[in-house]
Amino acid sequence: MLIDRFGRSVTYVRLSVTDRCDFRCVYCMSEKMTFLPRAQILTLEEIAFIARAFSELGVYKIRLTGGEPLVRENVIWLFREIGQLPQLREMVLTTNGSQLERMATGLRAAGVRRINISLDSLDPERFRQITRVGDLNKVLRGIAAAQAAGFEKIKLNSVILKNRNHDEVCDLVNFAIDRGMDISFIEEMPLGIINEHDRAEAYYSSDEIKHDLEQRYTLIATTETTGGPSRYYRVTGTNSRVGFISPHSHNFCASCNRVRVTTEGRLLLCLGQEHSVDLRRVVRGYPRDLDRLKRTIAEAMAIKPKGHEFNLKEQPVILRHMSVTGG
Ligand code: SAM
Ligand code: SF4
Repeated sequence: MLIDRFGRSVTYVRLSVTDRCDFRCVYCMSEKMTFLPRAQILTLEEIAFIARAFSELGVYKIRLTGGEPLVRENVIWLFREIGQLPQLREMVLTTNGSQLERMATGLRAAGVRRINISLDSLDPERFRQITRVGDLNKVLRGIAAAQAAGFEKIKLNSVILKNRNHDEVCDLVNFAIDRGMDISFIEEMPLGIINEHDRAEAYYSSDEIKHDLEQRYTLIATTETTGGPSRYYRVTGTNSRVGFISPHSHNFCASCNRVRVTTEGRLLLCLGQEHSVDLRRVVRGYPRDLDRLKRTIAEAMAIKPKGHEFNLKEQPVILRHMSVTGG
């Protein structure tokens, strides 16, 4: 078991498979984002080795994210490798949906049980504006392919920005209800410097979204907790739940059960802090030394911070973008 110095057990790791992406979402990247040189990013074999170390340490949930994980060449191999780890209970994926039309079946066969698909607008023109290059129809076909592939659960994630898509929250919930899916609304987090909008101006709080939804739906709070920043509500008369991911308005750090590994192999102990440990140095310096890697990870628990505060009015203290951290 991995227990940090505040007694929280860490059971969930999010692995960033690549910092690259076929989209350029305005809240996630600047327009001319440059990507890391190949040699700096972990190979798929190194990621699989790190996943194995975590699972042997008692981490039973692994999420693959990015960047866009599905644009990395041969990524299905990685899913298959991780899917075979005997101690793992859940392998899940976060994706923008652009590649699902061709990959959903293979992912399901590799053992992915649940997927999160990002969807910020149902209007093709707006979708393009928010993602800068994304094709809504391709993503909708990807969502249909994921449904056909039979995942246990599909959840939609929408980042809501004032005057961009805040008026679509009911339509997005409707879309989810029609397909029996859950949906989470995410407040924008100040990760990395972006040039497209002012984050304080675009801020639309979970409380505002909830208020808007309650004009149309009855939301019943559930007691389910993920150990993360989400709160869930059941939408009465449907099979869907609505989640709110609110890093600004609600403090969730006391029950934090997760860590992240960046594309470069930095083990991040907190999304909102810089505390990290270089796992790439260990996997490259001592290839195949699983015990050393496990020791390094276990020792890192001693520097997991108590929590974080984001402040929209100041320059971001965290200079890495979400595409590097993996959300
Ligand atoms: N490319 C995949 C996707 O978009 O789902 C996976 C990686 S993406 C970084 C993971 C999640 O982070 C997405 O739901 C995305 O909308 C969200 N995200 C990106 N930048 C964000 C930000 N600044 N604040 C809040 N959420 C953000
Ligand atoms: Fe790509 Fe996901 Fe970031 Fe959008 S949020 S730019 S899809 S990594």
